[in-house]
Amino acid sequence: NKTILLHNRPQGKPTLENFKTVDEEVPTAEEGELLLKTVYVSVDPYLRGRMNDAKSYIPPFELNKPIQSGIIAEVLDSHLPDFKKGDFVSGMLAWKEFQTSTGKGLNKVDPTLAKLSSYLGILGMTGLTAYLGLTEIGKPKEGETLVVSGAAGAVGTVVGQIGKLLGCKVVGITGNDEKVKLLTSTFHFDHAINYKTTPDMKEAIKSTCPDGVDVYFDNVGGEISDAVLTNINKFARLPVCGAISLYNKTEVPMGPRLQPILLTKSATMRGFIIGDFASKFPSATRQLAAWLKDGKLQSSETIVEGFDNIPQAFLDLFEGKNKGKMVVKVGE
Ligand code: NDP
Repeated sequence: NKTILLHNRPQGKPTLENFKTVDEEVPTAEEGELLLKTVYVSVDPYLRGRMNDAKSYIPPFELNKPIQSGIIAEVLDSHLPDFKKGDFVSGMLAWKEFQTSTGKGLNKVDPTLAKLSSYLGILGMTGLTAYLGLTEIGKPKEGETLVVSGAAGAVGTVVGQIGKLLGCKVVGITGNDEKVKLLTSTFHFDHAINYKTTPDMKEAIKSTCPDGVDVYFDNVGGEISDAVLTNINKFARLPVCGAISLYNKTEVPMGPRLQPILLTKSATMRGFIIGDFASKFPSATRQLAAWLKDGKLQSSETIVEGFDNIPQAFLDLFEGKNKGKMVVKVGE
């Protein structure tokens, strides 16, 4: 029963040395417990924050304890009335091949309604983050211009597609030309910009958004966002979803002072954690599932195979190796 522990805390960019795999006994489910077999593991940029020994909205991982993330597991044995052998569940679980659970915090997922991995992506935290961050904070209106950074990733691909569904002009920012093509062809973004090869991002935003930027859905922070901010319109809305370009910095980087821009543009910049919107999860999930079923939304995933590859898949997020949601397939 392989288990992946936090071996030591990263300084700057995480590496494989921060993780350690140990082999433990497969546990047995006692009264009031389930025995679970891991099937899909979600790797997410926010896990980087939990590797630091720092207070945040979610406690840090403990040294020499298993890492946890969103997982889809199969119930192998149940001593709980609400679950039976063969059910699939989704929840925050440990990076273990097999584990027991009291069932607390687990939700049953239906493999006949959607593919199992999509419950970690478009029908899971990713989809909810995209939909609720965009609609509750971004509040896009038909005809407006929406810019999304981290556009070819898990959250970004969903934000852009919803933007199009709501009648916006959508511009995505991403890190390679293959992703640029994916955004404009498969996901019907109006434009996509490769931030790694574009010498002047301010100019690139200006020329692709001649009417200015009304909504900026920010997944990355840093210099990319500085360039977008110089192009915002009056009453712009800026949901701050993530800041991956800053997660591995060891010092707080200095950027332009934002107050004059926000002030003169009467703009609203608001950070959020998806849990802030928990009361809206059921209705948001229904909407996402309906769009998915009608073919209005497409799910995009990068599936890595094998339990041993979980840490590398996580590290690859910081190298932009994924398109859409990065998921590790562990079992059948
Ligand atoms: P992604 O699938 O977008 O994966 C990360 C992507 O970020 C990479 O593929 C890469 O794409 C890009 N990236 C990596 N390093 C940098 C960098 N230095 N500068 C710019 N881009 C970079 O991850 P998610 O969709 O899961 O998450 C996106 C963001 O949303 C993250 O910041 C995450 O922390 C945040 N988030 C926030 C939530 C909330 O509740 N607020 C919930 C879920 C996610 P590329 O090739 O384009 O560089």
